Amino acid sequence: PIILGLESSCDETAAALVADDRTIIAHRLAGQEAAHRPYGGVVPEIAARAHVEALIPLVEAALADARMSLADVDAIAATAGPGLIGGVMVGLVTGKALAHAAGKPLIAVNHLEGHALSPRLADPALRFPYLLLLVSGGHCQLLEVRGAGDYRRRATTIDDAAGEAFDKTAKLLGLGMPGGPKVEALAAEGDAAAVPLPRPLVGTAEPHFSFAGLKSAVMRAVQSGQWRDADIAASFQKAVVDCLVDRTRRALAVADAPTALVVAGGVAANRAVRSGLEQLAQAHGLPFVAPPLWLCTDNAAMIAWAGAERFAQGANDPLSFPARPRWPLDPAAEAVRGAGV
Ligand code: ATP
Ligand code: MG
Ligand code: FE
Repeated sequence: PIILGLESSCDETAAALVADDRTIIAHRLAGQEAAHRPYGGVVPEIAARAHVEALIPLVEAALADARMSLADVDAIAATAGPGLIGGVMVGLVTGKALAHAAGKPLIAVNHLEGHALSPRLADPALRFPYLLLLVSGGHCQLLEVRGAGDYRRRATTIDDAAGEAFDKTAKLLGLGMPGGPKVEALAAEGDAAAVPLPRPLVGTAEPHFSFAGLKSAVMRAVQSGQWRDADIAASFQKAVVDCLVDRTRRALAVADAPTALVVAGGVAANRAVRSGLEQLAQAHGLPFVAPPLWLCTDNAAMIAWAGAERFAQGANDPLSFPARPRWPLDPAAEAVRGAGV
């Protein structure tokens, strides 16, 4: 089967055609950085309008690249959440319209499931169950991935996501958007041992995350005028990696026989993050799997692939499927949130 995937949950508009044998037949993506740059962050209303303008031309371009028409597609997978609701609605409604017009099944995909299964698109050898560190702009979670649609959340962040910390650090250093890659580039010129910064929650029994205190410490370091920007960037990045590696080590101790250690989401594109986790996996005798960089940040190939995995399970969602601004992968873990984290 061939799946058309649509992504529009944040500030990337994308369309992809992916086959269930893992061939990425076509992928088209349009970023919106220039539109949001004057505001220093993603403006939801501007994002939604940009998705409206970009999406159909990207679908047409992807089909043209593949020399295909909608008739050649077996199902249409669209991100239905979580994310900025206006953008999600644009992609989901477009997916519904295409599915209805072409008489094809609709698959409403959880964007986080797209990230979570993207390593399996990249690596055919990756089997369930695996321990996943999902690190993105809005999430920082440790999940046992037991199958498509079967997730057990072992940990989450009690405040900011790791990608958010990168973006805020970039803003404090005046680097602008996109924050993560700019901090990584500046960190390469700095001394990671120069600036003393906290490692929140490191060493605690539960493998949860916290980055708010680190962000505040970066702000104080910037304001002190005592350090070089590159040293702040490098020290910040090292602190994040130390937190991610320590928390993932804790989760490995309690996880149920994972076959691999896996990382996905935008922050998984960071080379220091990847190498820290790779060393951890080696120490535990586990394979380490990280998607290629372009498959870590938002894209439509991962949505099409998640759609392919769900299609194989017989998925066919109703055209009434709602756009969901919040949509946890492990609702049971989310439900106990009030009791602690
Ligand atoms: P979510 O997936 O949680 O809904 P999102 O879709 O906005 O959030 P992604 O596109 O998955 O997030 O990831 C974007 C995040 O990844 C941003 O916070 C960005 O700064 C971060 N990021 C991207 N590249 C890098 C990098 N090289 N180093 C560090 N962070 C990075
Ligand atoms: Mg983005
Ligand atoms: Fe994302």
